[in-house]
Amino acid sequence: MSNERRSVALLGATGSVGRQTLDVLRAHRAQFDLVAVAGGERIDLLAEIVKEFDVPVVGVKSERHRRELAGVLGSGPEIVSGAQGLSELSQSADVVVNAVVGFAGLPVTLGALGAGRRLALANKESLVAAAPLVAAVRETPGAELLPVDSEHCAIHQCLSGVRPSIGYPDVRRLILTASGGPFLRWSAEQLKSATREDALSHPTWSMGDKITVDSSTLMNKGLEVLEATALFGVGVERVDVVIHPQSVVHSMVELLDGSVIAQMSRPDMRLPISYCLGLPERLTLNWGDLDFSGLTLEFDLPDGDRFPALGLAYAAARRAGAAPAWLSAANEVAVAAFLADQIAWSDVVPVVASVMDHYDDEPVDSVESLLASDAAARKWARASLKR
Ligand code: NDP
Ligand code: MG
Repeated sequence: MSNERRSVALLGATGSVGRQTLDVLRAHRAQFDLVAVAGGERIDLLAEIVKEFDVPVVGVKSERHRRELAGVLGSGPEIVSGAQGLSELSQSADVVVNAVVGFAGLPVTLGALGAGRRLALANKESLVAAAPLVAAVRETPGAELLPVDSEHCAIHQCLSGVRPSIGYPDVRRLILTASGGPFLRWSAEQLKSATREDALSHPTWSMGDKITVDSSTLMNKGLEVLEATALFGVGVERVDVVIHPQSVVHSMVELLDGSVIAQMSRPDMRLPISYCLGLPERLTLNWGDLDFSGLTLEFDLPDGDRFPALGLAYAAARRAGAAPAWLSAANEVAVAAFLADQIAWSDVVPVVASVMDHYDDEPVDSVESLLASDAAARKWARASLKR
């Protein structure tokens, strides 16, 4: 890479994407300076990261966590807290990695783009919920939105060979691949008794709990359909999903002449992360190559009957406005309840569906209106959990 060092802010540093980002930074210390990190509640791990990388500014979830971290670090770095802290940190570096989970990542997405930074976005929930607001801040001079999510990172790479006009007129459709998750071959009857442990055993990716559950319901793919429309400005009728259990083809772009461009690699999130950090250059990674000996790639269509989350996401995309924000918020509440053993796996998507029955068109025209929509959807979701 060129001699110029890039500063990096890593928000959500203690999570799965966060720790894999640290792996990439460890392997490329000459190119990057980690100038800010944030975590939520894992204070000891955050303190270790701060010490290892000598990070000058740190964010935590709340004032209580701020005091706890200050106790561990002594008179070390500056510590900020809450959404305000995340917002400040997201304006402080050349590249901002948003690896926070859930709607809590919103201040990072809006903060980084609003400050004209490169945003390496793993946090799909903020983009799904706030798509109209993100579209506006993306116009800020210098702002650049690069997807860490492997499917969208693949599409970004596939599109580099396509005429870059608005709405990609040469593209017939974007094809997102889905591993199908742990329940790909489970019958409807078996799914009724799926447990927390079953849902958390993903066949090809090791990820945080929330996205692992989302992968098991295919809500993750539903959110990714919405993410694709927002990222690439393509209508939802031009976004399709195919099941591909090996997770080697990360996604594809089909052109008007029937050509299909695909991006492949071993399933390893450090690749898309390094793409977002290094672009336009490629970082050298030495963690193994794709092994073609005996490699079999299978493709199939998703089963919307066993996995109704996909249909809910397409419906939310067609309704637009705050419907995607409602979908994502209701899903966060339902997944948290499932992870806390309050509801069964088979209740997660029905809770989301019942919340969407209450949705009546709402615009997303300000942060305040979005926060109100998010709160309304969560209220209906909690009410649905009690039933
Ligand atoms: P994890 O649960 O592993 O990590 C989430 C991170 O967010 C942790 O660092 C956590 O802190 C932090 N966090 C949570 N709430 C707050 C808050 N209020 N303020 C500050 N930090 C907070 O999730 P993943 O790494 O799996 O996923 C992160 C995002 O990336 C998600 O949006 C997910 O959909 C997306 N993604 C993840 C992939 C993966 O391979 N894991 C692949 C593609 C996308 P702490 O743990 O200290 O509480
Ligand atoms: Mg993905």
